[in-house]
Amino acid sequence: MSEPTDWGQKKLARAVGEQLGRQRRRVNRALLEPVVLSAEFWDEETAYMQPPIQRELEIIAGHSAEEHHQMPLFLPVDIDETFDHVRSWAREYTYELITGINARTRVIVSNAIEQYNATEGMTRAELEDMLMNTPGSPFGPSRAARIAVTETTRAYYEGGAEMAREAESLGIQIIHLWQTNRDDRVCDICGPLHMTARYGKPKGKYEYGWEIGPPAHVNCRCKVAYELVGADELES
Ligand SMILES: [Zn+2]
Repeated sequence: MSEPTDWGQKKLARAVGEQLGRQRRRVNRALLEPVVLSAEFWDEETAYMQPPIQRELEIIAGHSAEEHHQMPLFLPVDIDETFDHVRSWAREYTYELITGINARTRVIVSNAIEQYNATEGMTRAELEDMLMNTPGSPFGPSRAARIAVTETTRAYYEGGAEMAREAESLGIQIIHLWQTNRDDRVCDICGPLHMTARYGKPKGKYEYGWEIGPPAHVNCRCKVAYELVGADELES
């Protein structure tokens, strides 16, 4: 990935880490109150967490659109139009992302409280430890890092994909090619996708291999490259 993407990923990791940390304190304050299991509590959590994370995803996708716009095949595209689409994508997708993250957190919190209630002699401090201080904690840095890597891949892909959609609406014929990162070259999921074309698009000399863009899995770092269909391929 490019330098701005690396930097964007670090900023996203920081934003997600900070948001999970604040959520951890809010959950901890309400831990043994019924409110912590209510839908309202978690809807509010989503409302708190969405804006700062949305901002970072929009920046990464926007940088990606800018980068792609440097390629000759995307020069005819109006970048402002693409930025508009990137912004709506970031808004809609971040809501979906944070809602999903919080739904999982809610289940983990509710299971921990159930265990606490069912375990005689278990103290609140032990409940807190189990929920908040283990390496697998839903509020911990490893979850934040995983989210940052996966969602940077998605936002970067989205910036290019929006650019490609705009180009295609102008009649430009493009081959979408999956490109694994060095780590993913040996990955069972992504390895076989390397340099395959997207179904439903022109494939040129390549084989078809995929339909939904990266990330293909948690911590996926793949990208998609775009190639203009050659004149000879247009005839066939
Ligand atoms: Zn991958």
